Amino acid sequence: QAEAERAKAHHEAVTCDGRVVEVAANIGSSEEARQAHANGADGVGLMRSEFLFLGRDQAPREAQQLAEYQATIDALGAKPLVIRTLDIGADKQLSYVSLPSAPNPAMGIRGTRLWQSNPELLDTQLRALLGVKPLRHLRIMVPMISDVSELEWVRERMEVTAAEMHLTELPLLGAMIEVPSAALCAGSLSRAADFLSIGTNDLTQYGLAMDREDPLLAARADVLHPGILRLIQAALQGTAGRCPVAVCGAAAGDPLAGPLLVAMGVDELSVEPSRIAAVKARVRRLDSRIIASELERLLALPDAAAVRHELAPLVDAAL
Ligand code: PEP
Ligand code: MG
Repeated sequence: QAEAERAKAHHEAVTCDGRVVEVAANIGSSEEARQAHANGADGVGLMRSEFLFLGRDQAPREAQQLAEYQATIDALGAKPLVIRTLDIGADKQLSYVSLPSAPNPAMGIRGTRLWQSNPELLDTQLRALLGVKPLRHLRIMVPMISDVSELEWVRERMEVTAAEMHLTELPLLGAMIEVPSAALCAGSLSRAADFLSIGTNDLTQYGLAMDREDPLLAARADVLHPGILRLIQAALQGTAGRCPVAVCGAAAGDPLAGPLLVAMGVDELSVEPSRIAAVKARVRRLDSRIIASELERLLALPDAAAVRHELAPLVDAAL
């Protein structure tokens, strides 16, 4: 069965009820891009660029960054590559960026807040990103967005950088939805963004106020909590089809959450490269209407355990 799945992995995944679902890969390097492409990924939905910045004593230079981004584009044929701008903070710290000590780094200076106090970090990365060829295969994604003004600030810096480089075409610019306020403000975000991607790992952490690094909370920090599902639903309803919405958190590759997310209306699942064939195979077997018709009932349940209990037989019936 695994062999049959692998053989079909290079084809588009369409559900039984006719929904095309992009199945993309989450990667951290050009090496993983090669693996994702070989496994049939429709593209890269999340390249975590921080892996280039960690474990060194100074920031990677523009040319070093460009070489890695270009190698990643080259590894994917003509498939789209979403690179996320540097997402540092909480567990991920850089020795060469001095930040005021934060009582709770997960809620401290990070994302746009970090670049506004260290603009050179973002500008160097943008110059490297805008140097790749062909630029139309690249998409730039901004993490930790909490409202539309942060995305507009990044877009302005991208446009200024592009003008300095005499570029006429610009890559698409998207926002991650991983902070509850962003999920609730998806309407305005979807007017300013070219695409959105829901980061369910952080959305669960910030939505439930449960630290994703805390092993004592791991079992309870569940994306299937009806409160988190309502945030995801709010993001999809707020977007109202104005731009594509992906999911790039671990929930995208989860056997229960993945089918539910498709039924809720997401356009793309971005998963670990090794999961591409299996996720595509499940999408092809899925009748998303069976889950969609029960959505309101699932979201009205009291807790994650109840959602899991009710969702499991529904997913079985829908596959
Ligand atoms: C997320 O938060 O869901 C996400 C995909 O980003 P990361 O896991 O890198 O924080
Ligand atoms: Mg995140």
